[in-house]
Amino acid sequence: AGNDPRLPLKLLIAAPRGFCAGVDRAIEIVERALQKYGAPVYVRHEIVHNRYVVDSLKAKGAIFVEELDEVPDDAPVVFSAHGVPKSVPAEAERRKLLYVDATCPLVSKVHRQAERQIEKGQHILFIGHAGHPEVIGTMGQVPEGQITLVETVEDVADLPFTQNDDLSFLSQTTLSVDDTREIIEALQDRYPQIVAPKAEDICYATSNRQAAVKEIAGGCDLVLVIGAPNSSNSLRLVEVAERMGTDSRLIQRAEDIQPEWLEGVATLGLTAGASAPEKLVREVVDRLSDWRQVSEEIITTAEENMVFKLPRQLTE
Ligand code: SF4
Repeated sequence: AGNDPRLPLKLLIAAPRGFCAGVDRAIEIVERALQKYGAPVYVRHEIVHNRYVVDSLKAKGAIFVEELDEVPDDAPVVFSAHGVPKSVPAEAERRKLLYVDATCPLVSKVHRQAERQIEKGQHILFIGHAGHPEVIGTMGQVPEGQITLVETVEDVADLPFTQNDDLSFLSQTTLSVDDTREIIEALQDRYPQIVAPKAEDICYATSNRQAAVKEIAGGCDLVLVIGAPNSSNSLRLVEVAERMGTDSRLIQRAEDIQPEWLEGVATLGLTAGASAPEKLVREVVDRLSDWRQVSEEIITTAEENMVFKLPRQLTE
């Protein structure tokens, strides 16, 4: 059976995993805004894609909404880590709302690159997943019609541009490193003139978490990824494990784990997306320990020490 408490279960826990510097900063921004301005503080979109985080902030007085028109005139509002289209701060200013922008600095960097590419007269091919808030935010940095979304290698063949067009590309920060490389190669194949961004847009946290899961997946019978179904970087971790030939499942909380999943599993890999708190990792280890004799090994493939400054309006 999968869950005999005498049966050993070896856990390989990926490091780095879980919170990145942008998520840490975004959560702290909401907490400090609550301290400084008092509840309620409105947050436009889930501050980070994690229900546990959102519920904890709700309990402290944050109110989550999808659009600015749900925010009253006299309440402060925080924009989520994923970034917003230019129209959002513009509307907040028009309404004289007090707003704090929790956009991750690494997303803002992509926004500024987009502006520069447009200034140079380039049409941007933006690699990303349709509908993700970061994609909506980045595409909303430039005038409509000057940026085109590319989701797959197949999309590249359908693009209407020629080798005479001024083109550049950018990407979402939380994509699959391997898929993105293939899409970029296809773009460069079809458009040798295309201009690359100054630095890679996929962020350090995304690539480190993918590299760590690649390291453990081969030696595991199952990989569990703690993350939300709308968390891009978490979904990518599941894909990376599956591409290594290992079954992988996305879970939000320990309670999602079905005991039958452990059948025939001797070694289990564990990681967490950039928006999942470490507390949820411990919760999973505890639940697994109810069923098996668990031993833990941390597999570290990179050290992270990134910290982002808070907006000045919250530190003064
Ligand atoms: Fe910033 Fe990367 Fe974290 Fe997104 S995943 S918040 S881009 S550090």
